[in-house]
Amino acid sequence: MSLFDVSSFAAGQWIAPDESARQIANAVTGEAMARAGNAQLDVEAMLEHARNVGGPNLRRMTFHDRARLLKALAGHLNQHKQALYDLSFNTGATQSDHMIDIDGGIGTMFVFASKGRREMPDAHIYLDGDVEQLSRNGTFLGQHICTPLQGVAVHINAFNFPVWGMLEKLAPTLLAGVPAIVKPATATCYVTELAVRLMLQSGLLPEGALQLVSGGLGPMLDHLGMQDVVSFTGSADTALKLRATPAILNNSVRFIAEQDSLNASVLGPDATPGTPEFDLFIKEVSREMTTKAGQKCTAIRRIIAPEPQIDAVIGALSQRLAKVQIGDPRLEGIKMGALVSAAQKRDVLEKAALIGTEATRVFGNPDQFDVTGASAEDGAFVPPMLYHCADPDTAERIHDTEAFGPVATLMGYRDLDHAVALANRGQGSLVASVITNDADVARDVAIGAGAYHGRLYFNNRASMQEATGHGSPLPHMVHGGPGRAGGGEEMGGVRGVKHYMQRTAIQGSPEILSAIGTRWVPGSDEHSHPEHPFTRRFGDLAIGDTLHTGSRTITLQDIETFAHFTGDTFYAHMDDEAAKRNPFFPGRVAHGYLLLSFAAGLFVQPDEGPVLANTGLDNLRFMKPVVAGDSIQVRLTVKQKTPRNDEYGEVRWHVTLTNQDGDVAAEYELLTMNAY
Ligand code: NAP
Repeated sequence: MSLFDVSSFAAGQWIAPDESARQIANAVTGEAMARAGNAQLDVEAMLEHARNVGGPNLRRMTFHDRARLLKALAGHLNQHKQALYDLSFNTGATQSDHMIDIDGGIGTMFVFASKGRREMPDAHIYLDGDVEQLSRNGTFLGQHICTPLQGVAVHINAFNFPVWGMLEKLAPTLLAGVPAIVKPATATCYVTELAVRLMLQSGLLPEGALQLVSGGLGPMLDHLGMQDVVSFTGSADTALKLRATPAILNNSVRFIAEQDSLNASVLGPDATPGTPEFDLFIKEVSREMTTKAGQKCTAIRRIIAPEPQIDAVIGALSQRLAKVQIGDPRLEGIKMGALVSAAQKRDVLEKAALIGTEATRVFGNPDQFDVTGASAEDGAFVPPMLYHCADPDTAERIHDTEAFGPVATLMGYRDLDHAVALANRGQGSLVASVITNDADVARDVAIGAGAYHGRLYFNNRASMQEATGHGSPLPHMVHGGPGRAGGGEEMGGVRGVKHYMQRTAIQGSPEILSAIGTRWVPGSDEHSHPEHPFTRRFGDLAIGDTLHTGSRTITLQDIETFAHFTGDTFYAHMDDEAAKRNPFFPGRVAHGYLLLSFAAGLFVQPDEGPVLANTGLDNLRFMKPVVAGDSIQVRLTVKQKTPRNDEYGEVRWHVTLTNQDGDVAAEYELLTMNAY
């Protein structure tokens, strides 16, 4: 059978493999199928192309431009995903595995696209946190900002998720404004290559934003500098080797590592047989052991159950695992396909044997199991294997050996502290789950185990219909873990984008901070305009445009009317003596909501116009009580403008209510949607 070529995409050119290429076998049949790798690849030219062409192209765009790019790319991949499914069966993955890898990857891109539009500005600078008051009179302030690194992100990925593994890193990188060079694991790089081809063929990507290395990376890491980032996913051994590259150490190159992990799942003490939680636990564990044939960094490797329930867990889990049909992943009804390669199968069996020195195999026999529609000898098939360790306290291998396949070890715990101690023996994991209907158990585990795990997943009867699964990293949530898991962090919404940006502390006057952040800072210039701001369209309003209203005097009658009209007859508004006994009030005071309503009455322009809706208030503070006889007036300033869609954008107004002495009575941010 002739082999197909898996190419690299370097500095705008597709480069075919050369004689140095490695062969890639079909996981299901074991036959050589493709080849990848080119020792002549000019890695320095690739880095320069990314830095000099891709970076500037991406940095010219705003966060919103890049978010729109992500959305369009995800939509394009979505239209062509059948081709990705068809090819990906050769990796041993089933259709439901494709849903995690291919649909999951595309979904991750959509989430970053939407977060980029909703949570980041339509600008080139991201403001990280609030203004810090650094001086008494407010003429010298501080603000943290993030700007894109001006280098290149090198993404080195594991074989198990050729599409998701690429997209979960690519989405935050492109959103940050940084070009990427993607290097998938050779065993499954042909699927990644197709996804890259599809994205490039879409014509959406600016030149230099995305390059691909199929096969070895050559000396690329030796040429990295201080503006570059490496984001690595793979084994702890490879991570250690790569992070020790002299150029990475000498230049303080950011190195994000996602490594292997001995993830645990704990059956709560309350979850006895017969409860919905017990059944849920069996279902989750069995699914995590067999999805992707256990080749999942988040798969459950250690099952921790109360000692009295061990027999029940072995019985129920064995019954469920026995129903998992193994075979050609293309066939209907097949729940578990092959491991990715014969080498991976050898590795899993070796590691399982090591675990077997401390634990007894209670389910699954690698020498005797059924395979449907394929040959157990030729394809890289293994059955699910469940071990039981009777003495998890003295055992070591079960806590440090990752068999990257459908292998897990069950162990008993005496009490919750013991369960937490066992979960933490993994020395840092990506995820630990607890199946419990007891909120106190959940809190105790969070306190005892939080520091050892990147994610804690709790599930029970209340959440089980909608829970997303122990093993699913979500784009909204942080993925990564301490210690053995690599000490890295990815995704987590905008947090993941910041890994590709530099955070800089900015100090200066309000005017300087307003100009840098395109967000009005109190103390900087206000400009008045002859027309009322509510009559001006989104595009015509400028940051700092300010309206000063006339004043309105509050009467006792106003307070009485408001109290009886709304039903808010709280004593501080109705009873002078009682209000005086309260440390906050000099006597009867106006309702805060009355002041807000009067403020709207002062600043509003009533005619139909570009202001479409008031969508909320942020950061409302009542700072000084207002009593009958006081007068209030309002200052309304355009603080920030954020386009939302083709018709309108959001205007954030800074609103200050002052009394007749100029003291601030209330302050808040008003949000309106304004037509373009
Ligand atoms: P691996 O052997 O460590 O390889 C990972 C990546 O590193 C591959 O792309 C590999 O490329 C590359 N690589 C190896 N040596 C290199 C070198 N000298 N220079 C540059 N690149 C090099 O891991 P794997 O077998 O693909 O993946 C399985 C492991 O990944 C498991 O331990 C699993 O737990 C872990 N994993 C972790 C996560 C996570 O998010 N934490 C996710 C998935 C997997 P080649 O294939 O070309 O050698």
